[in-house]
Amino acid sequence: MSASTGTKFGLDNVNQAPEGTKMWLLHCGNLEADDGFFLRGGGTSTLSNPNPPHARRKLVVISVLIEHPTEGLILFETGTGKDYPEVWGAPLNDIFAQVDYSPEQELTAQIAKTGHDIKDVKAVIMGHLHLDHAGGLEHFRGTEVPIYVHEAELKHAFYSVASKSDLGVYLPKDLTFDVNWTPFHGDFLELAPGINIRHAPGHTPGLCIMQVNLRESGTWIFTTDQYHVEENFYASVPQGWLARDHDDWVRSHQMIKGLQKRTNGTMVFGHCAKTFFKYQSAPHAYS
Ligand SMILES: [Zn+2]
Repeated sequence: MSASTGTKFGLDNVNQAPEGTKMWLLHCGNLEADDGFFLRGGGTSTLSNPNPPHARRKLVVISVLIEHPTEGLILFETGTGKDYPEVWGAPLNDIFAQVDYSPEQELTAQIAKTGHDIKDVKAVIMGHLHLDHAGGLEHFRGTEVPIYVHEAELKHAFYSVASKSDLGVYLPKDLTFDVNWTPFHGDFLELAPGINIRHAPGHTPGLCIMQVNLRESGTWIFTTDQYHVEENFYASVPQGWLARDHDDWVRSHQMIKGLQKRTNGTMVFGHCAKTFFKYQSAPHAYS
């Protein structure tokens, strides 16, 4: 069922991570926002209850670090970036508010907990380029570190900012020309032994999930914001105000449901605190 119940091998034995691969879950901060962003119909008024309470949701910001015997250090997503309440500015920093902050949640500090330095990261995989995932790309400006991102995401992010059609969720400061953008194409990429990237459009056109097949703890599925919170996946409740392409989301949902069933994969959702805290974060390493 999950890492803790000890599935030795997932069923996905074709692309297993090599002996010695380690993986850390990084807790890169906490946010709080209105639940209506994450659950369709959340807080809707009715005739009999015209002013329902506005439920608020505590969220986590997550990155993943993988120490891979043949590829080196691979980082999945980069969090909000340094000083993001100031950098994002109003009203974004009030809508998606930083809460319960401590300096040890900075990306560099989280990586340090694994015994590594962010400067030793050899590749970055971006599930999507929204502001709370791409903020840490600032650490890779002026370097040759490949930033793997789906072709459709890279195009859509630049277009959204340039045309202002979806400015706000993407920020110009994350979309610079001095990082080593390395797009990939199609539905599926075996990035390295044990690491599979799958295109899962819906929340954004180029969103990709990451599947990691580890020897001890089995298959892990990191969904980034295809699912913000567990209800999106388990109860098939689409997102609220953060939804974009509903039909694509449903198609991706079907694919991920099947993948989870086949691999008995452990799910980690984009911002679900309840799910994230079931697992151990850095310095604990999964193998
Ligand atoms: Zn997000």
